Amino acid sequence: MTTHREPLSSVLETIGETPLVRVQASPDEVPVYAKLESFNPGASIKDRIGKHMLERMLERGDVDPGGTIIEPTAGNTGIGIAVAAGQLDLEAVFVVPERFSVEKQQLMRALGAEVINTPSEDGMGYAIERAHELASELDNAAVPQQFKNPLNKEAHYEHTGPEVHEALDGEVGAVVAGTGTGGTLMGMAEFLREQHPDTYVGAVEPEGSTYREFFGEEIAEGEYKTEGIGTHDIETNVLFDPEIVDEIHTIADEDTHAEMQRLAAEEGQLVASSAAANSLAAIDVAERIRDGEIDAPYDSVVTVFPDSSERYLSKGVYRSFEEWEG
Ligand code: PMP
Repeated sequence: MTTHREPLSSVLETIGETPLVRVQASPDEVPVYAKLESFNPGASIKDRIGKHMLERMLERGDVDPGGTIIEPTAGNTGIGIAVAAGQLDLEAVFVVPERFSVEKQQLMRALGAEVINTPSEDGMGYAIERAHELASELDNAAVPQQFKNPLNKEAHYEHTGPEVHEALDGEVGAVVAGTGTGGTLMGMAEFLREQHPDTYVGAVEPEGSTYREFFGEEIAEGEYKTEGIGTHDIETNVLFDPEIVDEIHTIADEDTHAEMQRLAAEEGQLVASSAAANSLAAIDVAERIRDGEIDAPYDSVVTVFPDSSERYLSKGVYRSFEEWEG
């Protein structure tokens, strides 16, 4: 277990055991608690999978010390992998579509990684292809591929889920979280359902994302500004298991933007857009548990605040909705 009360030898030891803080706008009868993942050294939830995937891949011999990790990533995962790679004697190379925030790319480079940009219009699919091509040209290289890698989900099954369970003395009524790869929600949900099979599980996506297609709905795909969650092609979301999900919460960018500003102004929470979407969905679930519309085994809801708004200041997150570039 991480302890912040004694000297540590590496930032890797500070990953996880993040604070669990009440969302003050949630109902008294059914509080929402959020894991503040910006407390990780790379300042996002993805430090957890960076450490977990690389440590396990080294143990299994997928890659040996001195080797190269290549990942197609929109950013936070790159930072998480770069933090871990630097401490585990691995090189890191990231293939990043241009449209993602420049702050993240600067941080990856500062951590010693190489960043290769691909055109935004070619999307994540092309970035994935390039990463595999690059890996095949090198000896001793591996592509963790967070979208497909069960170790992504396992990091949350082994750590994030148990941490909230322990902090709430086992009384977790619902888990509600945004899904990009789905690793966070799937890992936490699988662990929490094992503790109590009736735990409510809510997935969060921005309007314009097509996760509802997993439930047979026809969805008009659209652009959205909320960063880090949602999908435009559910075939890439192989970790997402609709069987374990009670409901998908689709949140409009305008509402997310207002909640991001409210969380800062009223709750001192400098969190980014995916956290704000999670907050709205989790509060909604809490109110419905209070009103008897959702049956949950306990009167509490947990969510995650994956990263900090500071990472997106250049995109105007605290300006007007129209000025927010997303
Ligand atoms: N929020 C942010 C800011 C992210 O970068 C991500 C990862 N894409 C998520 C939420 C979603 O996490 P996951 O990939 O585990 O579903």
